[in-house]
Amino acid sequence: MTEKKVSPSLSHFLEDKERMLGALMRNLKGMVYCCLPDEHWTMVFVSDGCLGLTGYAAEDFLFNKKITYEEMTFVDDRAWVRKRIEKSILLSEHFEVDYRITHADGSIRWVHESGGPIFNEHGGLEALEGFIKDITQHKQNELLANEAEERYRSIFENAIEGIYQTSPSGQYLNVNPALARIYGYDSTSELMRSICDIQNQLYVDSGKRAEFAGLMKARGQVQNFEALVYRKDGDIIWISENAHEVRDASGKLLYYEGTVEDISERKNYERQIEFQATHDSLTGLPNRTLLADRLQQCMGFTDCYGGKLAVAFIDLDQFKHINDSMGHHIGDELLVTMAGRLSACVRESDTVIRLGGDEFVLLLTSLQKIDDITQSMQRILAAVSAPWMAEGRDFVISCSIGIGIYPGDGADPNTLLKNADTAMYKAKQLGRNNFQFYTHELNEVLTERMEIEYRLRRAIENEEFLLHYQPKVDFATGKVCGAEALLRWQPPGESMIPPMNFIPVAEETGQIEEIGLWVLMAACRTASGFKKLMGRPVPIAVNVSPRQFRQHNLVSIVESALNSTGLDPQCLELEITESCLIQDTSYFIKTLHDLKALGIKLAIDDFGTGYSSMAYLKDFPVDRLKIDKVFVGNLETESTNIAILKAIIALGHGLGIKVVAEGVETTYQQAFLHGIGCDEFQGYYFSKPLPVDAFVDLLAKNM
Ligand code: C2E
Ligand code: MG
Ligand code: MG
Repeated sequence: MTEKKVSPSLSHFLEDKERMLGALMRNLKGMVYCCLPDEHWTMVFVSDGCLGLTGYAAEDFLFNKKITYEEMTFVDDRAWVRKRIEKSILLSEHFEVDYRITHADGSIRWVHESGGPIFNEHGGLEALEGFIKDITQHKQNELLANEAEERYRSIFENAIEGIYQTSPSGQYLNVNPALARIYGYDSTSELMRSICDIQNQLYVDSGKRAEFAGLMKARGQVQNFEALVYRKDGDIIWISENAHEVRDASGKLLYYEGTVEDISERKNYERQIEFQATHDSLTGLPNRTLLADRLQQCMGFTDCYGGKLAVAFIDLDQFKHINDSMGHHIGDELLVTMAGRLSACVRESDTVIRLGGDEFVLLLTSLQKIDDITQSMQRILAAVSAPWMAEGRDFVISCSIGIGIYPGDGADPNTLLKNADTAMYKAKQLGRNNFQFYTHELNEVLTERMEIEYRLRRAIENEEFLLHYQPKVDFATGKVCGAEALLRWQPPGESMIPPMNFIPVAEETGQIEEIGLWVLMAACRTASGFKKLMGRPVPIAVNVSPRQFRQHNLVSIVESALNSTGLDPQCLELEITESCLIQDTSYFIKTLHDLKALGIKLAIDDFGTGYSSMAYLKDFPVDRLKIDKVFVGNLETESTNIAILKAIIALGHGLGIKVVAEGVETTYQQAFLHGIGCDEFQGYYFSKPLPVDAFVDLLAKNM
């Protein structure tokens, strides 16, 4: 073994220990000291670090020349620091202490002092020696860290959202008070004690925790994870969780950390909104929105489990009459009663839907034979027609039912419903208060007239109507003096249907009342718009059918149309045919007067084609006679018409009524009528009935 030898120069360095220690002390950040254990801590030695630490030069300090170390110690810390050091002296121990000093520049600095007592050979205390260094920066960092932790703790403690950490296997590691509150526990510790298996104790559906863990595994986080959970008292609430994984530096999964929000209120609100959107507010029954869905479900169920599905389309027979004559509140009462009766007739698993108005649809599943359906329908007919009291009166209401069966009468919800509806229509035709099954022949048996009535019902709902406007021209000025609103029916994807093809049917079925109301409102709205658009009023004439005219509330209907559209009554003219008069002349005349009292104008349409008009004409408060086009059309060839035209004009003028000629197609007709003193004309010669835009263009040119 050879001993390693140090070089002579290095051994020289090593021997010069004093020099080495001096160099070390100079370079130390901090102050090496030796002081007396007196009341000043009188310094007898300080290293060069003194200046950096205290701001004072060593000589200011030594032997308390300028300042004592006791004075430099921050006043609040003097007593306890002394106590600590004295205790170490007593125990002959080394001490470590952090406290504050006042720097020469006046700032307060934190220092760390480590030192110990020095005893003489007799065991008497001689001095203290040690090292003091500035730890202000370190203390500040510690303070900031404490403050930050305090802040986060406060957020954690006071958050409204629940906050937690859980082990991956489902135990709580840490929870905040909000989480305890959300889950109904008195304290966080109670929650942590009580739930040791989140999967089975918390989630209503225990599969939820696996779903949660699965998402975590796939994405490292879950967002807006909604679940039903149990509260302590057993109540069930909806929560939404946001959470993520926490892993250590090596990637090992440590725990999950997340927040919980109680979203029960929002969920309930959503449920309520959904309920409102899918249920009829009057009867509480599912509405049209749910129908297709439910029907599809029932069809799927039937496909799977066999049996038959019956779709029964039900329409109350007397609803419109009761609603019109007794008022809407009684109508509503009737609907609620009938909804209740229908629901009571079916099984829990069946569905009753209110389609709208007085139409209901029943979906009856798992029927084995047609006889089952027949019996159900008989029960329904009987239940509906049981006497019903309203305002002290007894009513008997009946209904008409059409039935479509699945499988057989349609492979999709729409066809099935349409076929049930068609069968219902047949039940109506067969005198109401009965039920009919859909048959394939049924569609063919429906006459054109039935077809129109059937289709009109949907046309009203789908608003397939529009108005065209035919100008009327004043002979005296040659200018447009108004227009007649003429109804058009435009079913989607088909050609336009002229009024003569459907108005007589609508008149017969009563649908004209609803259609007429639409016409009146639309015409008034447009006329009111013309005034604003053209800067001058453009009077509009609206045709009123005999059935509409007999409607007991016609006057108030017209009044409210004027009010709601803001149309000047002077700009509305109603055209009435003589046939209105046939049934009850005195009622007819009274209604004319009531209408006139609203300030509107009245015209007798198709004048000359009725019979009884002449005698009564003097009693009619009318403003215009419209000569029917049959007298104008063949003016060139039928000379007898000339006499009739002249007579009508003379008659009108004699009574102070303006006369309008309809159906003017040729220059000859126009000139002739002008010549015999007719006031106004209307006809293809000037213009056909026009869509509203084209009519506005024409007006603009004709100003
Ligand atoms: P109307 O009230 O006598 O209307 C005049 C009819 O004559 C319109 O037929 C018009 O297009 C047509 N016409 C106008 N000028 C000429 C012409 O120069 N030559 C010929 N050949 N015809 C002409 P449209 O529009 O087919 O209406 C037919 C009828 O349907 C109307 O006869 C009216 O009674 C009824 N109608 C139209 N709209 C309504 C409505 O909104 N309500 C009611 N209740 N009935 C309406
Ligand atoms: Mg007319
Ligand atoms: Mg006419």
